[in-house]
Amino acid sequence: MYCNMCGLCCRRLVVPRVGFRQMREFIGRYPFMKLVDTTLAGHTEIPVFACTLLVPADGGLFICSSHVTRPDFCRAYPDPRDTNLPQGCSMRA
Ligand code: SF4
Ligand code: SF4
Repeated sequence: MYCNMCGLCCRRLVVPRVGFRQMREFIGRYPFMKLVDTTLAGHTEIPVFACTLLVPADGGLFICSSHVTRPDFCRAYPDPRDTNLPQGCSMRA
């Protein structure tokens, strides 16, 4: 299992336990996260973020410009058992 550095997960990010009710506090704490879309979790609409700390690298790859100090929810990601990993993610089980 390896990460192919496609950057998809940082361009369309659903953060555990962050819904629209928690969004103001979340953005206040992580201002580099931008709301770009919504999606459904069951019947509930939840926010989808893009991270502005993601930067292009050689060969069409993407890297985190803040890898050492990235948030905990990024450190915990990805879980290969997560069925919501993006299509094309090489970490999908
Ligand atoms: S902080 Fe880094 S790992 Fe986390 S979403 Fe942004 S670019 Fe991705
Ligand atoms: S979507 Fe998967 S393969 Fe692509 S950068 Fe994220 S973890 Fe790596």
